[in-house]
Amino acid sequence: MTKLIQHYIGDRFIQSAKRFANINPVDGSIIGEICEAGTEEVDLAVKAARAALAGEWGRCSVAQRADWLQRLAAGIEQHFDAFVQAEVRDTGRTVHQARTLDVPRAIANFRFFADMVRHAHTECFETTTADGGRALNYTVRKPLGVVVAISPWNLPILLFSWKVAPALALGNAVIAKPSEETPSSAFLLAQVAHEIGFPAGAFNVLHGLGGNSTGQAMISHADIDAVTFTGASSTGAHIMKTVADDVRDVSFELGGKNAAIIFEDADFEAAIKGVLASTFTNSGQVCLCTERVLVHRSIFDRFVSALKAQTEALVLGLPEDPATDIGPMISQKHQAKVLSYFQLAREEGATVVTGGDVPSFGDARDQGFWVRPSIWTGLPDDARCLREEIFGPVCHIAAFDTEDEAIDRANDSDYGLATAIWTRDVSRAHRVSPRMRSGLVWVNTWYLRDLRTPFGGVRRSGIGREGGRYSLDFYSEITNICVKV
Ligand code: NAD
Repeated sequence: MTKLIQHYIGDRFIQSAKRFANINPVDGSIIGEICEAGTEEVDLAVKAARAALAGEWGRCSVAQRADWLQRLAAGIEQHFDAFVQAEVRDTGRTVHQARTLDVPRAIANFRFFADMVRHAHTECFETTTADGGRALNYTVRKPLGVVVAISPWNLPILLFSWKVAPALALGNAVIAKPSEETPSSAFLLAQVAHEIGFPAGAFNVLHGLGGNSTGQAMISHADIDAVTFTGASSTGAHIMKTVADDVRDVSFELGGKNAAIIFEDADFEAAIKGVLASTFTNSGQVCLCTERVLVHRSIFDRFVSALKAQTEALVLGLPEDPATDIGPMISQKHQAKVLSYFQLAREEGATVVTGGDVPSFGDARDQGFWVRPSIWTGLPDDARCLREEIFGPVCHIAAFDTEDEAIDRANDSDYGLATAIWTRDVSRAHRVSPRMRSGLVWVNTWYLRDLRTPFGGVRRSGIGREGGRYSLDFYSEITNICVKV
């Protein structure tokens, strides 16, 4: 019996006649059917969202909204195992990752923004007027209105809740769409909202494809106020053009082609462990993953052979197996994309240090979407494989001679999301970090997140910052009120 993923609009579950398959990437099996929303469902959702803003949801105090977020968090906690299973079956990731990262972070996102919004402050200035009197200028924070939130497949519930939670905390009505590849955890969250009696229309979930489908209908609707989007840079560019005529607010968290720089004074073992994690976590399908590794020439050969040995020890396995390190690519389409770069790398002159092919298991996984963890050396900096985001389990390692050279080569990218620097020299760490052209810099670590800090990228990696007060600012409209007293 397969499940049917339905839309959640105005506190009702709604089906569409148009549907497509929900596929488990571990073995290519069909695990469910997904309803595909069209312009009609999008319009229903916008109307439900408007009604929520004019009704119960719009009248909620900050404290009441914070309570609703806490109740959503508690609802996820109550159905923790179901969320873990949903994430695992849609993505093929390990149960361990879903239990320790994805689902706990979704809970944390709701709890964090519930707390954050209670402490949000505004400004007040006393102004002297021309007639010698006084005026009081103070700001109030209001919701933007109807916020469209669109998220990708790589960290489904983590990224979905990262947008939904702050948008709701600030009093917006949200119409959210998870990726067509990973709809199950968002469907569950809608069920949690329904179960706890979340104010109707404040949180709506639509399912469907992106271009020429649900996503396109959402961003094209005339009565939305803002779009918050995480996904590919090309999709971000398209969304920006679409909403430009109506001058809608956008917040974009987009792709990356991230560099790691390993200086000669780095803690060698820590750097190897760090680059192994930053390249292969979630099978390389994290926007923050390292695809370009720059290593000081004096330790280059040693670094390549140590990373090769550790990469070859990674276990490609089933999600339930505690020994598993690496899962499949999300889809056949994405597997084909990654494999096309494996082919291109050879054409561009790469030395394949390890991997570069599809593993053979002799079981059902051979119908799944796997690729072998891979390392290349020998590509010129202008190779397409070093300039375009691959989003798979692969990195290229190059040697550098000087600090300035490492910085220049790491910065030579159309993207600018995250850089990881490995050094034991404190002065160097502080000298190099601000020179990196990226929104995030990690020193002697990777992917260490504090939700209070700004998150986002430069150039093709995004527009704006989310996290902490930056999310409060994006998801609210500030009005200045000037009172002559
Ligand atoms: P994608 O852009 O193909 O899809 C993302 C979402 O956008 C999906 O829900 C999709 O249905 C929707 N979409 C696609 N076309 C659309 C359109 N024309 N109009 C409206 N919606 C549309 O990206 P993806 O393949 O799902 O995700 C991988 C990408 O996401 C990578 O580039 C990765 O780096 C990026 N990403 C960035 C961050 C970050 O925080 N910077 C985090 C995770 C992933």
